[in-house]
Amino acid sequence: MLGRKPIDFIPQRDMIYKPQETLPHHPNGLLFKAYNSDDKPIYNKIYYSTGGGFLVGAKAAVMNKFKKDKIQLKYPFRSAKDLLEVCAQNKKSISQIVFENELHWNSEQDVYKKLDKIWNTMQESVKNGCKKKGVLPGSLKLKRRAYEMYNKLKKKNNSNDALRELDWVNLYALAVNEVNADGGRIVTAPTNGAAGILPAVMHYYINFCSNSSIDGIYKMLLCSGAIAMLYKTNASISGAEVGCQGEVGVACSMAAAGLTEALGGSPEQVENAAEIGMEHNLGLTCDPIDGLVQIPCIERNAMGAVKAINASRMALDGDGKHYVSLDMVIKTMLATGHDMKVKYKETSMGGLAVNITEC
Ligand code: SF4
Repeated sequence: MLGRKPIDFIPQRDMIYKPQETLPHHPNGLLFKAYNSDDKPIYNKIYYSTGGGFLVGAKAAVMNKFKKDKIQLKYPFRSAKDLLEVCAQNKKSISQIVFENELHWNSEQDVYKKLDKIWNTMQESVKNGCKKKGVLPGSLKLKRRAYEMYNKLKKKNNSNDALRELDWVNLYALAVNEVNADGGRIVTAPTNGAAGILPAVMHYYINFCSNSSIDGIYKMLLCSGAIAMLYKTNASISGAEVGCQGEVGVACSMAAAGLTEALGGSPEQVENAAEIGMEHNLGLTCDPIDGLVQIPCIERNAMGAVKAINASRMALDGDGKHYVSLDMVIKTMLATGHDMKVKYKETSMGGLAVNITEC
């Protein structure tokens, strides 16, 4: 029926991993081959996973991944420079620009509904991560930390420790990434491996920043989305393509920008925060031990969240004028990623992944 029919599929037999081989256009490739009943190959097709849940065929990969969008949005932008110009011309913030562009596809009510859904899912991930103890699945038998950390922090909630908020930020990030490592539900922001940074900074905003509100949360999501689009359009959000700078680095940049927007920063200050968030992640390699998104990934999200908050504070302290533009740092990130050896791009053949026993 409809040209479809069931076939035998036994993963252990039918899926062949070839970690030493790379398909032509992207390191994360999967070649499907179909055989007839005489074992003759009758069809094959390659798909690439380019990060953030995006899947493309070989043709799209050759054409630099994306077809140019034919849709004419109200406020088109492809670079940070464009975005700042659009904001200045229309006297609008970055989140307002993104919100109005979203109205091309959705009603106002639906945009808010979707933003609520994302924020609720992030909150659920933090809660779920704090509830579960034990070890994470996989060969490392890595102990979950969020559960114990949460219970300790609750007990010393009234302490005068000046860095108490930092402990909570660490907790939020660890909780989400432990849920991810356990196959639970998280929001890809911009990737699963870096999914803890934005929610951690959003929880920091709502729980510790004065005058925080749900409106600020919406601003954070819309603004950080704009920053993610700039990376996705002009560079990459794939650890397999550019190393961890494309995952944790991008998430840090997004969260720094989002927080700055929610705290009332100008578009220039937001752009500055995003730039700082990436500048100090340039060159970050991807070397997960045993191929599991656990070490260094889980802890690295906590570090990325703290860095994002600091980037935002530095940007808010200035007037938005700065030396290196976000566009320049995005270009540098891509060039650094291209120069990075393949063993530092999700292959687990370099860095911590091979040196851990010598430490
Ligand atoms: S180290 Fe690699 S797998 Fe882990 S978060 Fe970074 S890019 Fe993702």
